[in-house]
Amino acid sequence: MKPQMSSAIILHHIDYGEADRIVTFLTPDHGRLKGFARSARKSRKRFGAALEPFAEVRLHWVARSSGDLITLRDAELVNLRSGLRRDLETLSLASYGCELTEVLFDESGIGVEVFQLLQAFLDHLDSVGYSVEARLLMEIRMLSLSGYVPHLQHCADCFGPLHAGPVGFSAAADGSLCQACDGGRATLKIDRMTLGTFGRILLTSMTNFADFKLSPRSRHEGQLLLDDALRCHLHRPLKSLEFLNRFSPPETD
Ligand SMILES: [Zn+2]
Repeated sequence: MKPQMSSAIILHHIDYGEADRIVTFLTPDHGRLKGFARSARKSRKRFGAALEPFAEVRLHWVARSSGDLITLRDAELVNLRSGLRRDLETLSLASYGCELTEVLFDESGIGVEVFQLLQAFLDHLDSVGYSVEARLLMEIRMLSLSGYVPHLQHCADCFGPLHAGPVGFSAAADGSLCQACDGGRATLKIDRMTLGTFGRILLTSMTNFADFKLSPRSRHEGQLLLDDALRCHLHRPLKSLEFLNRFSPPETD
């Protein structure tokens, strides 16, 4: 069996037996994988801190002939991202980003762009910590890469223009709705300025998190519309999201 090597981000691990660990990680070219790390807890010589969640590593493994579990041979730590542990808000937002990649994409459906997005998101949080902007940028970009981003700047039904001011929105109806198409289906009212702001965010580089400052209204309404869009596509409640909402309650207008 051919040895493989790749950059990887550790998503999480579970202890197995007396001394072993099963590690879930994301790679740019092989999607999401699960690896068996023998004696990872007993001897820290081979793996050290390299299998901790959020760490960027270079992993060496061999595939097994059957089953989906690969055997990890070695891990070189590239960046532990210890800044993510500065406070619970930052830590829970980082966990949420990792969990979103697990629920929005199946194992093989993860391309290099998802890896690069998560990598840039974690690097940003590692250096500057939690912000509502970082959360919203990550969420809308994950939705975009998964193909679930709602229609924002035109009507989801007739593709016509939207009027100024508050616009009807429903993720279940695929996004913004013009007055003629709404028919009482809208569950939210989102200002057209906010829809424009998030539409423009989708045109920016996926890996840029540093240059965004949103108005309180855009933060509040953006959170409402992204919560609605994500709820439509998540098949289970996210543990990390519960934590995040506990440490950092959603903003009100
Ligand atoms: Zn319409």
